[in-house]
Amino acid sequence: MSDPRLCGIHYGRHDGARVTATATRDDSQTLPYGWQCTCGASQRFPSEYDLERSAFRHTHPTRWDRCTAALRRILPAGTRGRRTER
Ligand SMILES: [Zn+2]
Repeated sequence: MSDPRLCGIHYGRHDGARVTATATRDDSQTLPYGWQCTCGASQRFPSEYDLERSAFRHTHPTRWDRCTAALRRILPAGTRGRRTER
């Protein structure tokens, strides 16, 4: 069993509350890169690039991110996601 290696720590805020997202790499996982936030959220990624981008985004939400997050809570599951019709 291999221990996950620390990749980095992202400090940020959620609506004024301080949070810390810890980024780690675990080669025993299918998706080796992941971050875990002190708010309870966590995500895994195939590359360090995706990990860093997502972790930064999560700890530094833009106004648009908060807006889409609020919409996701309001809208029923069937209407989520990007439409691909052309
Ligand atoms: Zn969080």
